[in-house]
Amino acid sequence: MSSQSSIPWFDDFVGVAYRYYDLRMNVVPLFTERKEASSLWHDTIHSWVDPSIKIRFLEIGENYWFIMGADSQKPDTNLAFFKELPKSENYERFKKGHGGEAYLRLGVYAKKSLDDVKKDAVCQCSHEAQDHDEGDDDVCLFNKCSCKKFSSFQVNLLKKKKTITDIKFMEEKDLKSDPLVWNCIGVNEFSKTK
Ligand SMILES: [Zn+2]
Ligand SMILES: [Zn+2]
Repeated sequence: MSSQSSIPWFDDFVGVAYRYYDLRMNVVPLFTERKEASSLWHDTIHSWVDPSIKIRFLEIGENYWFIMGADSQKPDTNLAFFKELPKSENYERFKKGHGGEAYLRLGVYAKKSLDDVKKDAVCQCSHEAQDHDEGDDDVCLFNKCSCKKFSSFQVNLLKKKKTITDIKFMEEKDLKSDPLVWNCIGVNEFSKTK
């Protein structure tokens, strides 16, 4: 048995952001609590050996599985990450633009309401905060927009980073060829109740 199959799988994070920062693409697993993100970094990712970090993107239809693992200097606290997510514009941009390298950082995701933001903050409906009614229900006042409530989010990146140089995009037919992906799908997909 490879050591890989004994590493617990972790999916208790809210998503993954892809951002340009420090001249390089950043892959950013997102958490809602800063404390949670920094202790996970401290306990697990800090001990990862950079050249061993692998990120796999297994594309299935409109979704993809984000799968990440590495060898650790402290194998007993090691974790492997996975999350099934919908493909997004930022994901596609990362896929095209990463050039074989990225930084791994953790991020804290904060939802913002109309009271929290400046007038030019952009809502998920694509219109600015100042286009939304400041009354009780902050509906979008923009011509024919159907948005009923201002909402946007902000991602704060933690400073610490690791360099990832092993990045692969795969389809379902390739999954047996990659031990990390095969293990992830075996443990997490086939164990789901159907
Ligand atoms: Zn809106
Ligand atoms: Zn709008």
